Parts: sequence; structure tokens; C-alpha cells
Amino acid sequence: MKKTIDDIGVRGQRVLVRLDLNVPLEEIGRIADDRRIRSTLPTLKHLLDDGGRLILMSHLGRPLDKAKDRAKYSLRPVASRLSELLGRPVRMLDDCVGPAVENAVASMKDSQVCLLENLRFHEAETIKDKKAANDPALRERKDSFARQLATLADVYVNDAFGTCHRDNASMLTVPELLNGRPCVVGYLVQKELKFLGDAVTKPARPFVCLLGGAKVSDKLGAIRNLLTRCDTVMVGGAMAYTFLAAEGMSVGGSLVEPDLFDVARDLRRKGESKLKLPIDSVVADEIAPGASTQVCESRIPVDRIGLDIGPRTIDTYRDVIQNAGTILWNGPMGVFETPPFDGGTLAMARALAEATDRGAVTIVGGGDTAAAVDRAGVADRMTHVSTGGGASLEFLEGKVLPGIAALDDAEREVRP
Ligand code: AMP
Repeated sequence: MKKTIDDIGVRGQRVLVRLDLNVPLEEIGRIADDRRIRSTLPTLKHLLDDGGRLILMSHLGRPLDKAKDRAKYSLRPVASRLSELLGRPVRMLDDCVGPAVENAVASMKDSQVCLLENLRFHEAETIKDKKAANDPALRERKDSFARQLATLADVYVNDAFGTCHRDNASMLTVPELLNGRPCVVGYLVQKELKFLGDAVTKPARPFVCLLGGAKVSDKLGAIRNLLTRCDTVMVGGAMAYTFLAAEGMSVGGSLVEPDLFDVARDLRRKGESKLKLPIDSVVADEIAPGASTQVCESRIPVDRIGLDIGPRTIDTYRDVIQNAGTILWNGPMGVFETPPFDGGTLAMARALAEATDRGAVTIVGGGDTAAAVDRAGVADRMTHVSTGGGASLEFLEGKVLPGIAALDDAEREVRP
């Protein structure tokens, strides 16, 4: 367990808060969806009520050419929206480090808020530790950037779960440098660790996992780890065709990863009856809205592509979900962005919602899967929708998330 903002007092302290304000933008300056901003409010309100001086930081998009991308990836519109939501001014700074930022922070009063400009305007933010290990100049660039951020902080709060699997300067190097000063998690990260952690370590059984999406390679580690912990792992999406093709089934033009056939066979052997594959597919000759479809139960013709799980698979997977105590879902069952290939994904979203209603724990992870439960209108009927796709997968693989490892451990309760 990690220390949280409830374990510390922040009155009069400069609180450096790493958030994930990486919102989708429609065009320059217009936020398409402000959910990520709204989700930070409980942590920010708590710290403000407690009298902290909040210095907020985040990345936004992937600015490549600093000069050209400055307007496109500025966090300024986020500051305006956050200010509306908090009902108080949020001062936008022009950079995230440097003398002007240090002066602005030095003049802050209790319960005031400022937002630093996009961390990724500095390449040092994303230098990987592995690369820096063989290059002292790179190491120094990353450390020097992190030192400048660290000078702004008496207290460090990480509430950016979606970035916790990255060894970014603001996520890992800053808390490492803040030796002795509190480094804790905010409410969003606390919630993620609780739900994902409980699912993996003490799930209500049967513990069932539904995995989909495009590639087996992305989810190999998670499948391996989950097979040792789950009672059933159900596979859908294009991933399923790599397993099916590895067993000799003709899958037509479906997306497969032939270099993983051996691994797929091995997983199937080890998973034995736990690992379930689709027994039918919705196929078409192209991915196009309204394309005409067929259902294939065995081989898929060479001129057809498997694009969704079929009706019998939906029934079988739904039965398993109906009897489960915990259901963890990552990755769509088909090309759900393009109807009519959304049927399987939407049916699974509804099945999970019904499972929650009857008392099961349902956890959804990954951007696509979160979007799918949203589209099915059942997002608020899930026990937990994880904000981090990559981070939640790495957590489920059993990996230590660097951004979490760097934070203070909670003191253990000492029982007499
Ligand atoms: P991932 O990022 O690995 O979770 O993959 C999500 C993507 O997988 C979505 O964009 C889906 O359209 C895609 N996908 C799911 N099923 C299939 C399929 N049968 N064929 C091609 N793409 C698929």
C-alpha cells in the first residue's frame, strides 16, 4: 500500500501534482471530452480545502516539433476548463521549469492553483532510463529537468494512473529526487490500485477475464499472468484468430500474427480448458459501415475477414459472465467502431452491466473498452472503469509500475 493524500497535511505547502490531463482535442483550443479534467476534481478539492498551494503538471499529446506544436498542444484550454470546474482561478504558466515558473510559484498563497505548460515540450520528460543508462549526457538532461521540477515541490502527489507505467522524469525521477519530502498518491490512483489490486489478489470467484483487441503481442504478458489467476479467460477480437489459425483453422483474411503461433499453441496447452476461443465469427469482405455480413462457425473463406464474435460465442461468453464473481475486461470483441461489427462488444458491455447489478465486481480497462461501455450506455453500471490502458495491462501482467514504486509506502498498522 502507498501513502495517500489522506495521510498528510498540506497547509502552506507547495504541492506538485502530476495529473493526466491528456484530453482529446477537436481543434486547437477546443476540448472534445473533459472527463479526464473532471476526474481530477476530488483530489484537487481535497488539497485546496486543506490549504495547499497547487502546482499542477501534465503532458498533452505527443508534440514532435516543439515550435510548430506549441499552440496545438498547449494546456491553456485545460486551465480555462479546470478553472470553471473548480470555481476559482487557475493560473496558466508559459513553461513548466525555469526562473519565471519558480518566481510565479514563490508568489503563490494557500489554496491557489497554477498549471505548468505541457511537460512534453521538453524532450527530457520522456528520455527512457534504459537509454540514459548508457549515455551520461542523456542521464544529466533528464536529471536536470527533474531537479528543476523538484525545486517547485514540498510535497509530490501522483494522480496520473495512465502514465504510471512510464519512467518519465515527472513520474519517476522527481519523486526519486524528493528524498524526505512526502510523495503520495491521489484519489484516482488510489482507486485504481484498490480495484485492480483486489481483482488480482483477492477476487470474488469465479474470476473471469475477457480479452480482445487487435494483437496478441500487446497482451501476451497479461494473458500469461491472468491464466495463473483466473478461472476462465475468454478471448475475442482479432487476437482470437492468431489462436485459431495456430490450431490449423482457416481464418481467411483475418488479422493474425504468424510469428506468435508457437506461443499461442503453448498458451492454449497450458491454459487447457480455462482459455476459451470464439466458436463463431461475424465475417465480411471489407471493414465498411453497413457492410453485408455472414456468420461462420468453422472455417472462414479466403475472401472474408473475421470482424466480430458471432451469436453463439456471445451466448457462451454471456453465460460465463452471468455466473462470475469478478469480471475483468480489456479490449473490444470486434471492430466496434464500425457497425455492424459492434454487436459482440456491445453485448458484452450489457452482460457486464447485468453482472454488476446482481453483485459481481466488473472492471473495464483500456481506452477502446471504456469507449465501448460508454457507447452501450452502461459506463456507470461498471464497478470500475480504469483510466489507464497500458498501465492497467502492465499491472495485470504483474509488473511493478515505476511511477507507483517511487512513492512512499503507507506505514503498516502495528497491532499489539
Ligand atoms: P487494442 O488497442 O489492441 O485493444 O485493439 C483495439 C482495436 O482492435 C480496435 O480498434 C478494434 O477495431 C480492433 N479489432 C478488434 N477486433 C478486430 C478484428 N476482428 N479485426 C481487426 N481489428 C479488430
